Amino acid sequence: MPAYHYPDTLAEACSILAAADDGMVYGGGTAVQILLKQDVLFASDLVDIGRVPGLTDITRTRSGLRVGPLVTLRQMETSPLVREVAPLAATVYGHVANPRVRNTASVGGNIAHGDYRLDPPTALMVLDASVELTSSRGKRTVAAREFFVDFQKTALEPGEIVTAIEIPHQPGSAGTHFVKLSSLAANDWPCASAAALVVDGSRRRREVRLGLGALSHIPLYVQFEADAGSTADEVVATACAAAEAVIDPIPDVRGGRDHKKRLGLVAVGEAVRASWKEGDDERRTPFWRRRR
Ligand SMILES: Cc1cc2nc3c(=O)[nH]c(=O)nc-3n(C[C@H](O)[C@H](O)[C@H](O)COP(=O)(O)OP(=O)(O)OC[C@H]3O[C@@H](n4cnc5c(N)ncnc54)[C@H](O)[C@@H]3O)c2cc1C
Repeated sequence: MPAYHYPDTLAEACSILAAADDGMVYGGGTAVQILLKQDVLFASDLVDIGRVPGLTDITRTRSGLRVGPLVTLRQMETSPLVREVAPLAATVYGHVANPRVRNTASVGGNIAHGDYRLDPPTALMVLDASVELTSSRGKRTVAAREFFVDFQKTALEPGEIVTAIEIPHQPGSAGTHFVKLSSLAANDWPCASAAALVVDGSRRRREVRLGLGALSHIPLYVQFEADAGSTADEVVATACAAAEAVIDPIPDVRGGRDHKKRLGLVAVGEAVRASWKEGDDERRTPFWRRRR
């Protein structure tokens, strides 16, 4: 059994982790508890950061939002501030599992979990969010797009704690859409998921950003530009070709490789079509009636 620690400050949490042979942070515990019950948690020390002040806040910043690691997924889904500043993030956090999991699981634990099927990273990548990491060696920031480095492996180094996620403002003229396709139950892990964001670029070009879940051994990010005059069909075709070049799903109980690949392209097509059209509608709306 690991030794349990309940530090009162961030500095104390960092020094416990630095001294531990194989220390692990305890966030909401929804993933850690499963490993403990299955007797496959091999950490020497579990550091519960629940008493550390300042880790449960969602704050407005000049560039968008700063989200503490112990903010729950349910808070992200329901917070009026998140819904106003980054509505795509609120939508996607609201698609994770079921209310019981979302009420307990934390934003920091979710991203640190590093599972290739996670839903929230799809939104965090298209919104260009970044992850703040703190350890006894200091602080550093890693882009969400670079956070997932290999199967179940993130950019977190030993002793580091996710201390915030910074999410920039979702541009007011952007079209966004999230599609999650599950094969066992609606609130199960996805078989394939896609978040899309379409935003105006320069010279009548638009940037299409895609975050893909469950379609490779890590969450994937794809970006391309399209002419603003393109039809939705043309953009969907380009998006599917770009996604097809990188997706390589892991077969499991939720479906074989080909099935997941086909579902993945359906998710990409739906997400891009809806966000391309939503962007058009938003641009036709007078600026004073836009979302922001
Ligand atoms: C029944 C069920 C269904 C699920 N379905 C989905 C789904 O559909 N989509 C989806 O995206 N996810 C799904 N999940 C996964 C769920 O999102 C994660 O279990 C949860 O987000 C992990 O957060 P937590 O706070 O409970 O993490 P914990 O269990 O506390 O920790 C998870 C990992 O993160 C590390 N960690 C925790 N906090 C930090 C921190 N601040 N800094 C550094 N490391 C940290 C821990 O050491 C551990 O390695 C499901 C989980 C369950 C149990």
